[in-house]
Amino acid sequence: MTPIETINPASGERIARYAEVLPAEVASIVGDVAETAVEWQQTTFEHRRSLVLKAASLLRQRASDYAELMALEMGKPVAQGKAEAEKCAWVCEFYAEQAEAFLADESIATDATRSFVAYRPLGVVLAVMPWNFPFWQVFRFAAPALMAGNAGLLKHASNVMGCALAIEAVFQEAGFPTDLFRALVIGSRGVRAVIEAPQVKAVTLTGSGPAGAAIAAAAGTALKKTVLELGGSDPYVVLADADLREAVATCVNSRLINSGQSCIAAKRFIVVRSIRDEFVERFVETMRAKRMGDPLEEGVDVGPQARRDLRDELHDQVVRSVERGARLLLGGRIPPGPGAFYPPTVLDDVRPGMPAYDEELFGPVAAIITAEDEEDAVRLANDSSFGLGAAVFTMDVQRGERLARDRLDAGACFVNSFVKSDPRLPFGGIKQSGFGRELGIFGIREFVNIKTVYVR
Ligand code: NAP
Repeated sequence: MTPIETINPASGERIARYAEVLPAEVASIVGDVAETAVEWQQTTFEHRRSLVLKAASLLRQRASDYAELMALEMGKPVAQGKAEAEKCAWVCEFYAEQAEAFLADESIATDATRSFVAYRPLGVVLAVMPWNFPFWQVFRFAAPALMAGNAGLLKHASNVMGCALAIEAVFQEAGFPTDLFRALVIGSRGVRAVIEAPQVKAVTLTGSGPAGAAIAAAAGTALKKTVLELGGSDPYVVLADADLREAVATCVNSRLINSGQSCIAAKRFIVVRSIRDEFVERFVETMRAKRMGDPLEEGVDVGPQARRDLRDELHDQVVRSVERGARLLLGGRIPPGPGAFYPPTVLDDVRPGMPAYDEELFGPVAAIITAEDEEDAVRLANDSSFGLGAAVFTMDVQRGERLARDRLDAGACFVNSFVKSDPRLPFGGIKQSGFGRELGIFGIREFVNIKTVYVR
């Protein structure tokens, strides 16, 4: 078996090496988790709530330690890592509080003496997760899954196995049964066998389109439920009546969060012609002012990219966009040194046929696209194979709401704000951005048996 390695993306140094767990041991872990799932299903909400709240309090206490781990493994600036750990505590608290109401029996009048819907756990759910929010992605799956009475298996991205093991330890230290939530130290080739294991009832993946297709194919063959949270190329539409100062600040922050590696980062900036010159000037200046550096240092806005190969792919997308006519206004050069850094970059005059228009740019690269008017802006925004998030900036809130509700094709549309996830609101995409929802009431109902009970 190939060892799994973690390279610190800021320095290029190898910081950890894990022996991949052998298939027989994986099968034994799956068996143990399935046995624990049977007992866990019988526990009360009160019991689950107390343990999930304990996990939340551990996350808050140790937020700085986890932030450091994330910085070392995937380069997230520490302030953002700390906020991520705290958001994980929030999602735990939210579901600890709400799960019982979200899953309460619902009476439905029929010809029965009594008929109702009950939401019962499915059993073991496998989560295949990405490195970009290595704590948050896992907790937004795990908190509702465990509160619903399910058990969890985690196959985390290979470069953040330290985070995977730290998360497993959070659940164990919080007092959950030892085998209720287990991290599997395996590479992506080992995933199919886990999906095929009869004890595994469902699978969710957050990651790229190709990984989603592979998981969905394996789950489809095994006839198991899937939820997929995939990539995005979120359009931010800036209309002529936008508050430009606010719009520029929000657009830049959304493009650079997590050093540009967020599925719901703003990626395409669709600006109407009458204000585009002013927007572009302010946008470039704001991007230029951001500080790139060591993610362990406070005050750094942009850390390294998570891996060198991903940084090089991003640069290749920039180069190919420029070759096809995009204008490079800022950045676009790989800095010297062993790390995986890539500077804030702005591409103007982006058009169809360029990677910056057609593909997801998973890094700090902004693509500016000029629209003639509102109608043209909507057309351009929807001209994408993705449909995760979208935002519109206008002083006319009703106009913004109408576009958000009726015109923009995405799972989440925000007006005068950057697109963000919130435990209270459903999260997920349409088109190539995936299917199913996480968070809110919809997320906790994805991995349950919506059971009809009919009593004569
Ligand atoms: P990735 O390469 O697709 O990896 C995601 C996970 O899938 C990792 O655990 C990876 O394992 C595994 N994997 C990859 N190929 C697989 C295969 N053929 N079979 C089984 N497992 C496989 O994605 P990433 O680079 O980590 O993350 C970036 C992508 O995730 C971006 O496209 C981003 O937009 C998307 N994302 C979406 C959301 C959302 O909520 N919609 C959130 C965050 C990120 P290894 O690491 O071992 O390869």
